[in-house]
Amino acid sequence: MPETELWLTERQTPDLSLGIKIKETLYRKTSPYQEILMVDSYQFGRVLFLEGTFQTTERDEFFYHEMITHVPLLSHPGPESILVIGGGDGGTLREILKHGVIREAILVEIDRDVVEVSKRFLPFYSSFEGDPRFRVEIFDGIRYVQQQENRFDIIIVDSTDPVGPAEGLFSESFYQDCFRALKKDGLLVTQSESPFLHTSLIKRVKTSMEKVFPICRIYTSPVPTYPSGYWSFTVGSKKYDPSIPQRALEFETKYYTPDIHRASFVLPKFLKDAGI
Ligand code: SAM
Repeated sequence: MPETELWLTERQTPDLSLGIKIKETLYRKTSPYQEILMVDSYQFGRVLFLEGTFQTTERDEFFYHEMITHVPLLSHPGPESILVIGGGDGGTLREILKHGVIREAILVEIDRDVVEVSKRFLPFYSSFEGDPRFRVEIFDGIRYVQQQENRFDIIIVDSTDPVGPAEGLFSESFYQDCFRALKKDGLLVTQSESPFLHTSLIKRVKTSMEKVFPICRIYTSPVPTYPSGYWSFTVGSKKYDPSIPQRALEFETKYYTPDIHRASFVLPKFLKDAGI
């Protein structure tokens, strides 16, 4: 008798899906914000799946977490205070805390259950447990930044797709609030979806951010489990050019290097043709 196979599938578009074969389901719950699923898989190890989409996996998380963190943090000559919005899995916090220069990292995640399930089943939080520099707050990131002024060197928006509670994280008014919450030479970086599948969204994010920040740049990275495997990040900066690393890397990485940092801002022709 052939063995029954269990597959978890994200429908990336109505006509395209990515499926991974799973060993077992570890956790399943519908929180007030989203459906949360944690599975163990053959190809990617443990996988966090929210509202039908792959969020992070043990085996490919380093592409995304290193690029969303080290590009902005190394573009700033002395970042001390960092705000992460979303990112409840803890991967971005782990990368931030590798920087010795950081004095405080505040993670504002709307969904307590994502933090709890990630602490239980993913290895990120345990790697920085006891570090006095970080704090997790369960709160809506949109409302949180409205209450801050001249406070952070860098804001990282590590959000879900622009639907439900994350929709407002892609708006011009949110970027204005982030501008006010940043210090005079601060930077904002947001994950901005797939250059191949979501070109018009990236254009909208860039146009909105350009209205608020004097410098706005886009960079890209592979992320194997995200739609099309090719991802983008958009940076708004008050002073520094985010494509130029300003400090030396003090620790081991798996994907990020200073050359990758600079090269990631070189965009392909089809994006330039699309006005990006
Ligand atoms: N790396 C992932 C990706 O791009 O698919 C994102 C990972 S992280 C798990 C995304 C988190 O953003 C989710 O846990 C979600 O609850 C959180 N989130 C969505 N909207 C939010 C908001 N308005 N404020 C704070 N957190 C939010």
